[in-house]
Amino acid sequence: MTEITMGPRIRETNPELIRLFIMGGFSEFTVTSLKSHKWVSFRVVKSKNWAHMYHVQSLSGRGKYLYLTSIFNLEVKRYPTKVPSMPAGSTYEVFFKWLFRKIVIEKILPHNVLFDRSTRCCRCGGKLTNPKSIAHGMGKKCQFKVKG
Ligand SMILES: [Zn+2]
Repeated sequence: MTEITMGPRIRETNPELIRLFIMGGFSEFTVTSLKSHKWVSFRVVKSKNWAHMYHVQSLSGRGKYLYLTSIFNLEVKRYPTKVPSMPAGSTYEVFFKWLFRKIVIEKILPHNVLFDRSTRCCRCGGKLTNPKSIAHGMGKKCQFKVKG
């Protein structure tokens, strides 16, 4: 049921690499809680209109990504929006806020959490085919742009 929308995943354990991946600009990943054995897929997309702003989406039961919350200046906060959204204060929202604080602020990956990133480019969301690019989590053109 889930394979259709999720696509292949790569397990990542290094919190610094996870942080860079999440803040890449168009990242897609699945997080599994070993405590509850539940998983959720997130997408973190950099805003085109606002600097230091990212929008977070989570995959709904119907296989569609819906607006969950936002990150502005490293603070997770939900903004009113007209785009299709998850209900405010959902368990996904609470979970993301906790996860973000752990990984990005405290720089640790909680031991009861599995992080699986997609094989798409974390900067533009493009499909990656080159094994080196897949290992980096970013396409060649985007790597060049980040460095330059
Ligand atoms: Zn790219």
